[in-house]
Amino acid sequence: MGTRLEGKTIIVTGGASGIGAAIARGVAREGAKVVIADLDLAAGRRVADAIAAAGGAAVAVEMDVTDRAAVRAAIDMAVARFGRLDVYFNNAGMNSPMRFLDITEKNFELVLKVNALGVLIGTQEAAKQFLAQGSPGKVVNTASIAGRTGFPNFAPYSAAKAAVISLTQAGARALAPDGITVNAFAPGVVDTPLWTKLDVELAEMGAADSGFASMAGDILLGRPAVPDDIVPTAIFLAASDSDYITGQVIPIEGGMILV
Ligand code: NAD
Repeated sequence: MGTRLEGKTIIVTGGASGIGAAIARGVAREGAKVVIADLDLAAGRRVADAIAAAGGAAVAVEMDVTDRAAVRAAIDMAVARFGRLDVYFNNAGMNSPMRFLDITEKNFELVLKVNALGVLIGTQEAAKQFLAQGSPGKVVNTASIAGRTGFPNFAPYSAAKAAVISLTQAGARALAPDGITVNAFAPGVVDTPLWTKLDVELAEMGAADSGFASMAGDILLGRPAVPDDIVPTAIFLAASDSDYITGQVIPIEGGMILV
């Protein structure tokens, strides 16, 4: 167990699975008290229980990142339980592939709502809590290489992740006067349940050639990421080591798109 996040309370949205679960475990190992906020409460509780069993402090809450009242309630719960909020990871996300000419309004709206509007709401409500408690705080967003270059079979996801990068920059500028930093990291291809579902849907579209195996073939370091590859950067962005960094997006993609 480390001490880099001792005394900090950290909310991780989408913390029940994949990258978010790894971040929740990682920040707990550094001494943080963790709130796992996810649509899937049962899976969130399993992650929280495992953290507690390893000697950490964690609790799970059911929350939809697109529902402002639910986000506010989760923050209130974190503060009631642990006394304050220090770091908010806007990590929840999803993808729903469609060929470019087939993309519907419904698909676009859903993907933008979860991945982009969810980040705006989370940033706003976390910042309001930091202001109310009168202490600096950090927001850390999960962007993607898909926000740096547009992928044809999931254009709305690419657009949403580009929005995450813009919201990171705008949020950093808006909140810096209050001592709040807003940063992001941009993973490449990470082996998580998100890809299991995506690969099935791409295969159903007849687009299996743009799936996990094909994307992972273009990585300089020779392998896709696992969630634990993301954790050291997440801890860095949550800890005081990154106090002089704001508005930045750190790529974690093994040498892939290089932008
Ligand atoms: P995952 O599917 O394993 O986990 C995502 C979690 O988010 C799930 O527990 C899910 O229940 C939760 N979630 C989804 N919609 C939600 C909502 N509206 N409100 C609250 N929770 C919600 O996926 P992952 O790969 O760990 O993805 C985590 C983040 O990383 C996402 O933002 C994703 O876009 C991003 N990302 C993933 C990859 C990758 O290759 N896996 C690459 C770049 C970026």
